[in-house]
Amino acid sequence: MTADAPITPITQDVLTLPRKMPEGGKINLVGLTRDEMRNTLIAHGTPEKQAKMRVGQIWQWIYQWGKRDFAEMTNLAKAYRAQLAETFEISIPEVVSRLVSEDGTRKYLVRIAGGHEVEVVYIPEEGRGTLCVSSQVGCTLTCSFCHTGTQKLVRNLTAAEIVGQIMMARDDLEEWPVPGAPKDETRLLSNIVLMGMGEPLYNFENVRDAMKIAMDPEGISLSRRRITLSTSGVVPGIARTAEEIGCLLAISFHATTDETRDVLVPINKRWNIEELLQALASYPNASNSERITFEYVMLDGVNDSDEDAHRLIDHIKRHKIPAKINLIPFNEWPGSPYKRSSNNRIRAFANIIYQAGYASPIRKTRGDDIMAACGQLKSATERARKSRKQIEAEAGLGG
Ligand code: SAH
Ligand code: SF4
Repeated sequence: MTADAPITPITQDVLTLPRKMPEGGKINLVGLTRDEMRNTLIAHGTPEKQAKMRVGQIWQWIYQWGKRDFAEMTNLAKAYRAQLAETFEISIPEVVSRLVSEDGTRKYLVRIAGGHEVEVVYIPEEGRGTLCVSSQVGCTLTCSFCHTGTQKLVRNLTAAEIVGQIMMARDDLEEWPVPGAPKDETRLLSNIVLMGMGEPLYNFENVRDAMKIAMDPEGISLSRRRITLSTSGVVPGIARTAEEIGCLLAISFHATTDETRDVLVPINKRWNIEELLQALASYPNASNSERITFEYVMLDGVNDSDEDAHRLIDHIKRHKIPAKINLIPFNEWPGSPYKRSSNNRIRAFANIIYQAGYASPIRKTRGDDIMAACGQLKSATERARKSRKQIEAEAGLGG
C-alpha cells in the first residue's frame, strides 16, 4: 500500500532548504488578541483614538481575507500602510513539505522559529474537513503507545504558530473568500481538532488565544462546536477549557483500571481515573448535544477485553457523563511496543458499548500510508538529523 500511494512532496530533502530569517526583527501581528494588537499598534505610533478601528480593519484583512501584505489593505491610508510595513509583519509557519495520501489526507510539515518542525494533518470527509493541529513540538508526557511521546525535544508553540497552522491550510486549500463573492457555507476546512503533536493543556494560554482567534466572527469564524480539544487528562485544565475556550472536549482514556492506565497514559499517576471522571462529570458544556469523546486506542491483549468494555461503560454511567466512545485502531510505528487489536476484537468491543446505549464509532485510519495517522506524528527533524549523522559518518567527517 505504501509503495504505490501517489505521494507528491513539494521537497524531499528538508536539510537543504534555506531557513527563512525574520525580516529585520519585525513584530508579528498574527496570534495577538485584539487587546494585544491594539496596545502594540499604539506603542508604535497609531493614535490611541484610532486604535480600536484600526485593529478591526487589520484584523479583517488578516483573518477574514487572508492577506499578508499591508499594501493590500486598501481601506487604510497609503502612508499608514507603509508605516505598518516598517514595523510589523504578518507571518505564519513555513511549509517545508506536503504529502497527499491516496485517501486525500494531506500531511504538512511546517517550520517554526528555531528551525523546529511540527506536523499538521488535513482530513477531508463527506460534507466537512478537519484540520488536526499541533500545540507543541514533541510532548513532555510519555504515553507508551504514542510516537510523539518518544521525541525528546519539546517547545510550546506560540499562539501565532497555532493559528498559523489554520491559515497555512486555508492557503493550501485556496479557501480565503474573495471580496463580493457569495458566502460559501460548505467549507473545506470546517473543523479543528487539537490532536496533533503535544498536550494542549500544557500550553493553555497559547492554545486558548489561538482558538479565540479561530472563533472570532470577524475572521476565520469557526463555531466553538467545531473545535475539539484532546487531552490526556490534565485535570486542572479541564474546567479552564470550558470557561476560557468553550470548545468540545476529547479525553485520551485508553484504559479502564489505574494499573493499566498508569502504564499507557502515565499522567494517570498524577490524576487517576476517578479524579479524571469527576472533572468530566462537572464539565459545564457537556450535554447530549455536546458529548465528551472518550478516545480509546485498541491494543491487542492490553486493554481490549470484554471486561474492559464493561468497565468503561460502568465508569461513564456511574458518573452520568454524556459521552461517545471513539475506538481507535492502534497505528503502529517503527519500534512500537504494541500490536493493533484484531478487527473482530474491535467489533466485539464496540458492540458491548453500543448495546449499553452509547455511540461507539471505530475511527477510520486515515493517511497511514504517509504516517499521518493518530500517534504517528513526529517531527522529521530528528530523523533528518540522524540521517545527516549517518551521511557524515559514511563520508568520514565524524559527528
Ligand atoms: N496530547 C493530546 C492530544 C494529541 S494525541 C492527547 O493525548 O489527547 C491525539 C490522540 O491520538 C490521542 O487520543 C492519543 O492517545 C492518540 N494516539 C496516540 N498515539 C496513537 C497511536 N499510535 N495509534 C492510535 N492513536 C494514538
Ligand atoms: Fe503526548 Fe498525547 Fe502522545 Fe500522550 S498521547 S505522549 S499526551 S501527544
